[in-house]
Amino acid sequence: MKTLFRGGIVVSGRDKKQLDILVDGEKIAAVGEKLSDSDAHVVDVSGRLVFPGFIDGHTHMDLEVSGTVTADGFLSGTRAELAGGTTCLIDFATQNRGETLAYALRRWHEKADGQASCDYAFHLAISDWNEEVSRELEDVIAGGIRSFKLYMTYDAMVMDDRGIYEILTRLKELGGIAGVHCENRGIIDARRAEVLRRKGHRRDVSDYPATRPHLAEAEAVSRLLKIAACVDTPVIIVHLSTKEGYAEVERARAAGQKVYVETCPQYLVLDESRYGLPDGQGRKFMCAPPLRTEADQRALWNALAAGGIDTVATDHCSFTLAQKAAGKADFAATPCGMPGAEERPALLYHYGVNAGKISVEQMCALLSENPARLYRLYPKKGVIAPGSDADLVVWDAQAEYVISKDARQSAADYAPLEGTRLKGRAGQVYLRGRLAAENGRILAPGAGRYVTAADGRIEL
Ligand code: MN
Repeated sequence: MKTLFRGGIVVSGRDKKQLDILVDGEKIAAVGEKLSDSDAHVVDVSGRLVFPGFIDGHTHMDLEVSGTVTADGFLSGTRAELAGGTTCLIDFATQNRGETLAYALRRWHEKADGQASCDYAFHLAISDWNEEVSRELEDVIAGGIRSFKLYMTYDAMVMDDRGIYEILTRLKELGGIAGVHCENRGIIDARRAEVLRRKGHRRDVSDYPATRPHLAEAEAVSRLLKIAACVDTPVIIVHLSTKEGYAEVERARAAGQKVYVETCPQYLVLDESRYGLPDGQGRKFMCAPPLRTEADQRALWNALAAGGIDTVATDHCSFTLAQKAAGKADFAATPCGMPGAEERPALLYHYGVNAGKISVEQMCALLSENPARLYRLYPKKGVIAPGSDADLVVWDAQAEYVISKDARQSAADYAPLEGTRLKGRAGQVYLRGRLAAENGRILAPGAGRYVTAADGRIEL
């Protein structure tokens, strides 16, 4: 079956141009002016922005953490992504200590296969580093997993400096790359103990951000970048949240180091004042790193505009209010994370493009092209070009609506930005040639397919 999308404004990371798109089955067959094909069903998208399907490079679906499991598994989580215009996510398959990498991957396939409504790939989070895991990496990479995650904090997953050095060295050898959660664990542990000593309890969520200070992120970013410089390999800073952390990135880049940076909408549009909300409502906004200040938001927007940040991902890690209530007596026991899969493209458009902070081309780069390049899904994903998957988002720039938990696909029973009025959303979302979602409703559930990373260099 062929479809001809006529008259849309086709967006890439570099430009936008009125072009027709001919889709044959699951692939894009041609892109050009005045295309015609007598067999094709014609869809008029005149004057509408058409993006390559968005890619969310940072999600946690069906993750066991803090003695519970995230509200969204792959079933609801991928519906949420698709509804907002995301046609492919990359989730963190996570190795628990004592497990092999093969076991972790098998488990993630069991969680995802047959459930997903958008395409999905995996990163692999390494929590246990030893000779066997080092040997296993060769098979894992040959099998199409080329991106890995390391944590510099969290008792269950923390990797020490030697482990980070050795893993980066091994990944360099094998052609993999690591994304790293950068926060200094010692500072966090000490600050948490201080709150308890001072007050005798940790009920006040308003004390949360100070337990994960800006400099705890900056120190870890700096340390990671020096370790990566010793290994002489590029590295990814995930969910960068602070001005001070970004300054460390700029310093390393000025010295010639290759550093990729991801941030998330929550660090761009929400700030730490949310932790002061009454009745423990601040728990809804508990994520790590925490929400920061308006000065940090400005620094991150400026970095986005200047091309200093490469990707905007969600860190979608959703919990219900009942799950969040585990932190009632001690905020440190709150499962950390927020839902955000549905809103990411609309938030970047509303607060970025509409506000004049970034261009639609930059939005395309941050949400689609750059994550595709960084995680080696390009040019299968991330671009509207002949041979690529026909993942298309027809943008409705005029749609005005209010964010409501009731109109969402996520299993989380709250929306962090409940009641916020936005302009612009994904209108029609095509997954490999098929109309899969429209105006937030799912039309073709369960069609998601597993995608592997390609061989070769990162071109970004
Ligand atoms: Mn995360």
